[in-house]
Amino acid sequence: MNDHPLPQAPDARRRHALRRLRFSAASLLLTLLLLFSLPQPTWAALPLLAALLALLPLLRADDGAGMGTDTGTGDAPSARERQLLDALEALPAGFELWDAEDRLLLCNQRIREDYPQVATHLVPGARFEDVVRQSLNAGLVAEARGREDEWLAERLAGRGRGLRPRLQQIGDRWLHLYEQRTASGQLVCIRLDVSELVQTQHALVEAQAAAQAERQLLERAVDAMPAGIEIYDEQDRLLLANRRVVGWMPHLDYTQMQGKTFAYMLEQTRAAGALPREAQGMEAAWMAERLARRGRSEHAHLQELSSGLWLRVSETRTPEGYLVGVRQDISDLVLKERELQASQAQLQAIIMTAGVAIVTIDAAGHMLSCNPAVERLFGHRAEEMLGQNISLLMDEPDRGAHDHYLRRREGHEGERELPLLGRTREFNALHKSGRALTVQVSVSEIRGPQGKQYVGVITDLTERKQFETELQHANEQLLRLSTTDALTELANRRLLMQKLEEEWRRGLRLGTPLSLLLVDVDHFKLYNDHYGHQAGDRCLVRVAEALRASVGRPTDVVARYGGEEFVLLLAQTDAAGAMAVAERCRASIREAAIEHAVSPLGPLLTLSLGVISAVPLRGGTASQWLAQADLALYQAKAQGRDRAVAAALFNPI
Ligand code: GH3
Ligand code: MG
Ligand code: MG
Repeated sequence: MNDHPLPQAPDARRRHALRRLRFSAASLLLTLLLLFSLPQPTWAALPLLAALLALLPLLRADDGAGMGTDTGTGDAPSARERQLLDALEALPAGFELWDAEDRLLLCNQRIREDYPQVATHLVPGARFEDVVRQSLNAGLVAEARGREDEWLAERLAGRGRGLRPRLQQIGDRWLHLYEQRTASGQLVCIRLDVSELVQTQHALVEAQAAAQAERQLLERAVDAMPAGIEIYDEQDRLLLANRRVVGWMPHLDYTQMQGKTFAYMLEQTRAAGALPREAQGMEAAWMAERLARRGRSEHAHLQELSSGLWLRVSETRTPEGYLVGVRQDISDLVLKERELQASQAQLQAIIMTAGVAIVTIDAAGHMLSCNPAVERLFGHRAEEMLGQNISLLMDEPDRGAHDHYLRRREGHEGERELPLLGRTREFNALHKSGRALTVQVSVSEIRGPQGKQYVGVITDLTERKQFETELQHANEQLLRLSTTDALTELANRRLLMQKLEEEWRRGLRLGTPLSLLLVDVDHFKLYNDHYGHQAGDRCLVRVAEALRASVGRPTDVVARYGGEEFVLLLAQTDAAGAMAVAERCRASIREAAIEHAVSPLGPLLTLSLGVISAVPLRGGTASQWLAQADLALYQAKAQGRDRAVAAALFNPI
């Protein structure tokens, strides 16, 4: 070891140092043994301990051969001294020995390698304080920066005191300093590089901090979730419960629940009378069932808490065997569902008791539902109708139209809108017995789970329709009666006067002629007296027939004016036309050959006629005009009866 790092010293001094070294090594060994007996041993110092144990034989050998004694070999170190020095060099740590005045006696090469900045100052006799100052000046001591003097004072004061190693950062390395004074006042210092250990510790602390931060983040995230979250370990002990769960379970003190089993918490819940409503009256059985099922089913279950809250609970096991419980507050949903159920029940009750028939069909016309009113209306039982096409209830022509619509729908577009939608329509329907019905249908569309459906509300109009028809007949009858003469079925006087007014106005407007024949049966009183009143009536009917046969135009009106008097009103007919009709009337009655045995005029019934024709003029009235006809009739009577006399007119045509 020519490059031996130990300071070169005179023999006597070196021997002296070596002797001290042996002594110091023994003391240090004891110190380290003491250190390792402390509760928290510095395991990093283990190699050092091994190296020092290796020195033990040398120390023992010293008793005999006297490596460090004054009776040594003179100039060169003895073989044992060299062995000792080699051993110090082989130490996996820096080694220094300082005298009682804190001057360096010796140090190994490692010290110089570890402190290259102060290597030149590490010579025997160097003062510790000076060496440290050099280190401080070189900025080696991280913890002393900015407070060098203060630090130095503390360093010197604490030097060699305390059993624990002193941790020091030099540059980017960390060292443990073991300093121990020997009984003679020397100071042995071992500097052990523990950078790896410290870095590992730092990494561990950082990892712990990161893990802590992650846990905190996880807890906050879990707290912020809109659901109750619980996590249990593989022994079913609570690890975590978020804020919602804590809020929902006020009977459990969650500060005490950490680490408690689910079974224990369940028991606490039971004791507080806070088990879900479904457990009431069967608590023990419910709890046994709950524990048996726990974490075994993928399916969520519902719970109604004693507070009235509805929770949906799902429990999942993680691959590690942990159990994650998720509770969702679905009270709103449950409430809405109940409201929906109530309104559905209400609706169903209304439908079942409704007087109108309500039927639901699908897009193809198949009946899906019907209420009792449908059964009553059509005579079919519900089971006979459900699944059948709605055309079952229809009658022609609506049934044919409906079938045609369905065929076209299938053939062309799948989504043709029902033409009936949003409108009310009358249908010809059919009772099971074959009886025809008239119904009114209004259809609305709903979207069911299986697509479009249609709800038809059907009102029975049959009776109303029948009533309407009867009413119409009655009205027609009434109208006919009010305008017809009951005996002869000719127009009565009221209708005549109405027609006369109309035709008068029309003639006035158009300037066309109008004629009127006033007809009277001759000696009818005698007829009645002779044949009787009923025969008189029959006679009047025959006269009416003869008069009706005498006119041909649709506008001609033949009316019974009263008693045995008749009127023929001939629109757009002049005097010649009117006289021709008058003669046809007389001819017609002759042809009828009605026997009148007591007539002074002959054996048959005869007529007298007053005829008037005019183009209506302003200022004149229809009734004035009629009075003129009456005058002409009077003349006909006066002239001997059985004739027609034209009125001497104020405006002859
Ligand atoms: P003249 O030739 O002048 O017209 O004589 P007349 O007897 O026909 O006339 P008069 O006015 O004196 O009598 C009319 C009779 O007609 C009186 C009445 O008994 C009869 N008469 C009127 N209305 C009816 C009726 O609805 N049925 C029957 N059977 N007789 C009627
Ligand atoms: Mg008369
Ligand atoms: Mg008469």
